[in-house]
Amino acid sequence: MIRNNKIIGILFCSAVLLFGICYGVQKRREYVPNVIVGAGLSGVVMAERIANEQGQKVLIIERRNHVGGNVYDYKDENGITVQKYGIHAFHTNNEDVWKYLSQYTEWHDYKHQALAETSKGLVNFPVNLNTIDQLFDVEFAQDFIKRLTDKFGFGQKISVSDLQNDADNVLQKGANILFEELFKNYTIKQWGMKSEDVDPSVIARVPIYLTREDAYFTDKYQGIPAQGYTAMIKKMLDNPLIEVRLNTDWRDVRDNLKYDKLFFSGSADAFFDYKFGKLPYRSLTFEIKEFPKEYYQPRAQVNHGNAPRMTRSIEHKYLLDEKSPVTTVSFEYPEAYNGKNERYYPINRPENAALYKKYMQEAEKLPNVYFFGRLGDYKYYNMDQAVARALELYHKVFK
Ligand SMILES: Cc1cc2nc3c(=O)[nH]c(=O)nc-3n(C[C@H](O)[C@H](O)[C@H](O)COP(=O)(O)OP(=O)(O)OC[C@H]3O[C@@H](n4cnc5c(N)ncnc54)[C@H](O)[C@@H]3O)c2cc1C
Repeated sequence: MIRNNKIIGILFCSAVLLFGICYGVQKRREYVPNVIVGAGLSGVVMAERIANEQGQKVLIIERRNHVGGNVYDYKDENGITVQKYGIHAFHTNNEDVWKYLSQYTEWHDYKHQALAETSKGLVNFPVNLNTIDQLFDVEFAQDFIKRLTDKFGFGQKISVSDLQNDADNVLQKGANILFEELFKNYTIKQWGMKSEDVDPSVIARVPIYLTREDAYFTDKYQGIPAQGYTAMIKKMLDNPLIEVRLNTDWRDVRDNLKYDKLFFSGSADAFFDYKFGKLPYRSLTFEIKEFPKEYYQPRAQVNHGNAPRMTRSIEHKYLLDEKSPVTTVSFEYPEAYNGKNERYYPINRPENAALYKKYMQEAEKLPNVYFFGRLGDYKYYNMDQAVARALELYHKVFK
């Protein structure tokens, strides 16, 4: 009898202790109405709207040691604004997005231009009629251009892969040379797969323009934030209702936080502890170097399709037209995402879309968790699309 009472007593005390511990842990959880994972453009737009329009508190959790995600830039010791994660030229036809960001920055009038290294030297890129003059002998170039403009019309844009399948032998021959010189190896290096396995939309993203204009983009609004992207992002975050916690991975704090809404702009597989497998991404290594001369190359961007590993070199002083006797250049080397480097490009393949869909079916069971952004939506967004998507989600949730 005494023994039984003892056991009951021990069980009772253990239950009380367990309850106390659970209650304590629960009590110690920090409450914030809105938590955002990722201080990239997507997360920052969401935070800005919630704080400024809803007047609600927001906590941003960011793994890196800075805000801005991939649009982050900084001034180096020579006063050159360096875009740490590769060139970011802003371009959009979306007036709402342009007006929205313009509340937080003035724009330096920058229209992106690029060149590509070929067996015939540097040529204009994306391909236009000038590129054809630079790459082919006069006779072939004239014939090629005439056939192109007769068939598709001056001013139109077409994809190199469509042209390679054209019935006209001259168009086919010209397209095959363009493909070998400018697209094939670039695509193989960038995506780590054979060019025929790359989703056609990826190649079509860099079209052939049947014009004489050397602009990289044709959008109505183009520019670079006059003080840089980081300055713009900091202004957007300048509200006492917004707190940013840098150097913090969501995984390490998720059990300590309570929230009404969670906006997740990280990768969905990581959110669900990779339970269905890893979503593949392409990554890049950026090698940033200083050169003791005023200019290194004739434009901000030069593509190196046929170099062994490198795809692009970017000379940063062009972007804000900064003057200096020295110059800073970054060289880009694509590689697979391996868990230690950064996720940059979702890979557009049916099996990856299917895996992502499985994660989103899990996400549907969590009504107060929203996935968005380049990683959260597993979609190649340009900056304007990332902003538009964040604004759209904000309206859906709060209006
Ligand atoms: C090399 C390159 C060049 C580009 N050039 C252009 C261009 O010229 N023009 C253009 O319009 N667009 C360009 N883009 C696209 C542009 O970078 C994106 O549209 C934009 O950065 C998307 O913002 P985001 O917030 O969705 O993603 P990101 O910038 O990737 O931000 C996501 C943030 O979430 C953080 N995060 C992820 N997981 C966690 C976690 N578990 N815990 C905490 N934090 C986490 C990350 O550290 C990151 O800061 C380029 C992209 C790349 C990669």
